[in-house]
This record gives sequence, C-alpha cells and structure tokens, in this order.
Amino acid sequence: MSIKIRFIGTGVAMPQPHRVQSGILVELDCPVLFDCGSGVLPRLTDCNAIRHVFLTHLHLDHVADVMSLIKAKWLSGSSNLKIYGPSGTREWVARLFDAYPYMRDKIAIDVTDLADHDRVSIGSHEIVCAKTAHGMPSLGYGIADDAGRVKIVYSGDTEPVESIARLSDGAEILVHECSFPDSVPDVTNHTTPRALGEMMGAVSVARIVLTHLYPHTRGFEDEMVQTVREYCDCDVEIAADGETIMIDS
Ligand SMILES: [Zn+2]
Ligand SMILES: [Zn+2]
Repeated sequence: MSIKIRFIGTGVAMPQPHRVQSGILVELDCPVLFDCGSGVLPRLTDCNAIRHVFLTHLHLDHVADVMSLIKAKWLSGSSNLKIYGPSGTREWVARLFDAYPYMRDKIAIDVTDLADHDRVSIGSHEIVCAKTAHGMPSLGYGIADDAGRVKIVYSGDTEPVESIARLSDGAEILVHECSFPDSVPDVTNHTTPRALGEMMGAVSVARIVLTHLYPHTRGFEDEMVQTVREYCDCDVEIAADGETIMIDS
C-alpha cells in the first residue's frame, strides 16, 4: 500500500502567485489535511471527503481557510469535521463562531487541543505530535503506520528542533519548513537550509522536502537544496504547489 502526499500550498503570509499558503493533503484510509491557509480551499477537489484537519499553529497563513472549509462542507451537504491543533485551538474555533454565529451547528465540529507526544488514531494510522519552537503554541506531526513506525513528518513552522529530528529518524520523508535562504540574517522562529542541515546531519531519513517558502527564497532554490545535501545523505528537494509524492507504507 502507498500513501499519497499532495502539496496544496507551499507558501507563506506574503503573496506569491505560484504558491498559496500552507496546506498538505495526505491520503491515509481517508484524506487528512494538515494546515489550511488562504488558497487551500479552492484547490480541494472533494472537501466533503475531508473529515480531519490537523493545524500546526494558529498563524493566519495556516488557518485562514478553516471557516471557509466549514462553510463549503455545509453547503456541500457534509455533516462533520474534526479539527486538531495545539493548545488554544478550541478557544480559537469558539471565537470564530462568535464572529460568524450563523455558521453554528451547520455541521458537527469536534475540536481537540493536542500536546507534545499525544497520539491520534486515524483509521490504521496514528498521528504523533511533537512540540516545535515558533514563538506560540505549535506542533509538528508524524504519521505512523499500523506497526507504530513513523513514515512521514511535517514540521509546520519552527526553528530547527530536536523533537522533529527524533521523530524523523527512520522516516521515509520529512516535510520541513525552510522559510528563508541563509543570506537572510538573524532568522528566528523559522528555519534556514544550513540550520536544517546541522539539525538533520545525524538523522536517517530517506527524503527531505522543503516547504513554507518566503519570496526571499526565489532564485536561491538550488543553493538551498545543495546546502541541506551537504549535511544530509538523502534526497532533498523544494516543494511546489500541486506536486504529489507517493511513499510506500
Ligand atoms: Zn507560516
Ligand atoms: Zn507561523
């Protein structure tokens, strides 16, 4: 069996015509959406099929289309959605409905605040949480198979952190943010290629895909890939909107 990973949005809070904001769709037993920034909803071909959304954190470029997804599901006759995210997600969703009271009870919404090391079963897979470092509550996620082996890791927004390196050890693919090239000085709360390479050098992962790319990365893509490769003995590439990757599960 294989798992399909679709990069819906690989961009950030600044507009880029070729990159909408963050969103990754992973086809497990059912499709699971990780982050739902602006531009993600129009690219979901079957929003009714999505019943699980995992948010890495509550910055707008990761959550802007969540209420739009809820509305689209309601209008399409869908009945429920489970939303998972770091501490504060339940309160944030409640406030969304305060702002849009007419949307209350249109579909059943179940919101779960997650913490470091929490595990959520989705069919035969498990989503494993890892605390990240982004100046606000934030989580990265691992996707484990039915034997508990983590196959896919998505960092969300973060500085390079040990928790993501540990989770990725032995995985097929690490999707890691790489917001800026190394030429941008004093980057905090985010990751640059050299910092990622230094973190991942001793970690055994088959493939690293860089996402969450600011406009500053344009023209530096090859250099960014090359820098990470200097440290990591694995495939390294830059994600593109619409790209699909299949991995064996
Ligand atoms: Zn972001
Ligand atoms: Zn962020």
